[in-house]
Amino acid sequence: MQYQTAAWVDSPSPNTKPYLKHDVLIPTPSIGQVLVKLECSGVCHSDVHAILGETKRMAVHIGGHEGIGQVVELGQDVPQSYLHSRVGVKWLYSACQACEICTLNYTRCPHQSNSGRDVPGTFQQYVVAPAKFVTKIPSELSSERAAPLLCAGITVFSAIKKAGLNVGEWVVFPGAGGGLGHLGVQIAVKMGYRVIAIDEGDAKGRLCRDLGAEIYLDYKIDSVEETVMSLTGGYGAHAIICTTGSDAAYAQAFQLVRVLGTVVCVGLTISQLPVSPFAVAIRGLKVIGSSVGTEVEMEELLQMAVNGDVVPHIEMFELSELDNVVRQLAEAQIVGRAVLRIPQ
Ligand SMILES: [Zn+2]
Ligand SMILES: [Zn+2]
Repeated sequence: MQYQTAAWVDSPSPNTKPYLKHDVLIPTPSIGQVLVKLECSGVCHSDVHAILGETKRMAVHIGGHEGIGQVVELGQDVPQSYLHSRVGVKWLYSACQACEICTLNYTRCPHQSNSGRDVPGTFQQYVVAPAKFVTKIPSELSSERAAPLLCAGITVFSAIKKAGLNVGEWVVFPGAGGGLGHLGVQIAVKMGYRVIAIDEGDAKGRLCRDLGAEIYLDYKIDSVEETVMSLTGGYGAHAIICTTGSDAAYAQAFQLVRVLGTVVCVGLTISQLPVSPFAVAIRGLKVIGSSVGTEVEMEELLQMAVNGDVVPHIEMFELSELDNVVRQLAEAQIVGRAVLRIPQ
């Protein structure tokens, strides 16, 4: 028996405190799986919801779904080429690839498993994962900078694509200075859209402007609706990609979107949508949901990162600091993405 260290959650609740547990068994890869020795893992806002018991879905004691490391052991039937390759372990741990939903988009498979939800996640030294669902990481990217692309990056990338914008159109990112938002700003700018960034505070403002946002609005200080209307000729933006789960941000999104525009729901809240079917019908709005993305989109995004078009802004922490990171994320105090170093 070999043991490893993991950031352990006894039981998800608002008062829970993840701690390092040193006697967690190193799993053995079964058929089709690889064993990955992790180097680092990003911390997603959905980890925060899970650990604090807000989504009541965490059925395991180890969260995390933005993990990167090296394959150190192969299960049966895994091609030898996987051994020693650097891979990412994502939220979509596996999908059935046989149901009717999978034939349309396997990321929505109702029979899927998720890292850190129903199988142990990436806040540990070793994780097993099905080889066909891990992502090979290009050698040009450091593990720390690649980690945030595995959930935050792919989620916002796919959301932007789903918005169906044309070059030169306006897109608003509420939560622009956070993990998803700051990547979304870069991707949207590169795709030729005009970006309005909304968040709070000077640090996030500086980051958003540096990343190419045409304007940054601090929702605590600025008159957001007035400014967006005047920038867009009184119409409102073509799309709002709501990368924060704040109820106020969702309420505002429907004030900022133009007639025939699109609101993409990405940030997680369990509140009801603050819009009437009347408004959706009369204004011809599209309301779309998006989370994660396909492997094809993942490859496209990694290529953008290799080209230097998307550079995650990261803040590094130790695995032992997960509790601290969870608190800071819950208070929206992290600029960009928090990434945990896994002890080697
Ligand atoms: Zn995530
Ligand atoms: Zn399926």
